Amino acid sequence: MIQLYQPLNFMGTLYRETRQAIVDIEKMFAILSQQPEIADRPGAQDLEVREGRIVFDDVVFAYDSKRPILQGVSFTAEPGATIAIVGPSGAGKSTISRLMFRFYEPQAGRVTIDGQDISAVTQRSLREAIGMVPQDTVLFNDSIAYNIRYGRWDASMEEVREAARLAQIDSFIRSLPDGYEAQVGERGLKLSGGEKQRVAIARTILKAPPLLILDEATSALDSFTEHEIQEALARVSRGRTTLVIAHRLSTVVDADEILFLDRGRIVERGAHLQLLEKNGAYAAMWRRQRQADEEGARRGDAERRE
Ligand code: ATP
Repeated sequence: MIQLYQPLNFMGTLYRETRQAIVDIEKMFAILSQQPEIADRPGAQDLEVREGRIVFDDVVFAYDSKRPILQGVSFTAEPGATIAIVGPSGAGKSTISRLMFRFYEPQAGRVTIDGQDISAVTQRSLREAIGMVPQDTVLFNDSIAYNIRYGRWDASMEEVREAARLAQIDSFIRSLPDGYEAQVGERGLKLSGGEKQRVAIARTILKAPPLLILDEATSALDSFTEHEIQEALARVSRGRTTLVIAHRLSTVVDADEILFLDRGRIVERGAHLQLLEKNGAYAAMWRRQRQADEEGARRGDAERRE
């Protein structure tokens, strides 16, 4: 019996690993629409996250040599801290998260996690250590439970439900006729941007990675949904080193440090109030967004009165 069990057990593991690999590749293609080009160095060691300190040390990067994107970016995210990266569209904010994942490598400078250069560690261990809530979550054509369990395959149904509760999506799921077995994705139920993001948050809660990257949605969510998502994100980032790529400044007020990126350089850095006092690029962006929000609210009120 044991003789039969071992190969079967091995095949089970192999099946799970293969399935995970296929899903990872699918996800990578779907989200990034690009091929993984970076290979592990011979003899690369696994990343060992001890405290979770992330350091960008004078990072220079270009997708194409004629057009520099990051031009000497340096910052430190202390263990458990939240660093927000803001700035105009095209400044290079998401590029920073792509370098963290090592989808690309810097042309100069380095990125380290607890002192280990990420270009010298295995990609598998690096990606295991980082949780990502992307701008636009791609759901698999499967049940909603499957989509959440993608964060950790061996999670029990109770853990899946708990993660959904923390991500504020559990009551929505239970209101569906098939509940957690409801089919989603291209061929199933189409979820809204906010619902998909909450599925991604639930997935990340289940994965419980030491490091987090939150790439905020550019598309405006209604303020109730935005508030719920902010709460869920605050919960998941507690105690984890977090990089937030933010488009809406209202969501970065509590960050430990805000980096204002402009054309690949950090032109201002500090906490929210410090940056307002400075009355520079951040303060100007803050005022513009406040004005736009107030106008939006006034328009909304007028429409409701009509
Ligand atoms: P947004 O706020 O609009 O999301 P961002 O600050 O996150 O912008 P990035 O996505 O980092 O900006 O892009 C920085 C620059 O790099 C942009 O000009 C963009 O066109 C360019 N870029 C992004 N991805 C690639 C790529 N795969 N190949 C070539 N250029 C790219």
